[in-house]
Amino acid sequence: MTREEIKESVSMRDILARYGLPMPNRAGFIHCPFHSGDREASMKIYDKDYCCFGCQKVGDIFTFVQEYEHISFREAFLELGGTYESHDGEPSFAQKRRQYQRMMAKKTAEKRKAEVEREKAELRRETNLLFLAMKELYAPLSDEWCEAYNEWQYKCYRLFYLLGWEF
Ligand SMILES: [Zn+2]
Repeated sequence: MTREEIKESVSMRDILARYGLPMPNRAGFIHCPFHSGDREASMKIYDKDYCCFGCQKVGDIFTFVQEYEHISFREAFLELGGTYESHDGEPSFAQKRRQYQRMMAKKTAEKRKAEVEREKAELRRETNLLFLAMKELYAPLSDEWCEAYNEWQYKCYRLFYLLGWEF
């Protein structure tokens, strides 16, 4: 609904009922909810507006909801059934889709980054173990040693690549 449509369909009495406030007396007044000690009902309720002779508050259904709930116009508008439509005719669906795509791209990037970090940690551990094995376990230039060396070298290159080092 637009602002005008809401004003067409919602009266001040509807707003009072909404908050369980008493209906206006015969003269059309209620006790003002915005200032205390209102002995004589001093807020005049019109069809779509109000005016308090005690605290000078004047407004319409929107400002009443705003003041009563301490919310912005936008929130009051939405609460009363208001909807926003884009002016240039671009469906908000397209905007939502773009937002969704951006979010997914960010998620994918974060996931990829976490995977790389995991792989780096794994490579560091493995290259350390291989190096240790070459140094302590295998006889230099033996088959096992050569195999370990090849693997160690391969993993080092992979690690350097992930670290962004150039050769
Ligand atoms: Zn008042």
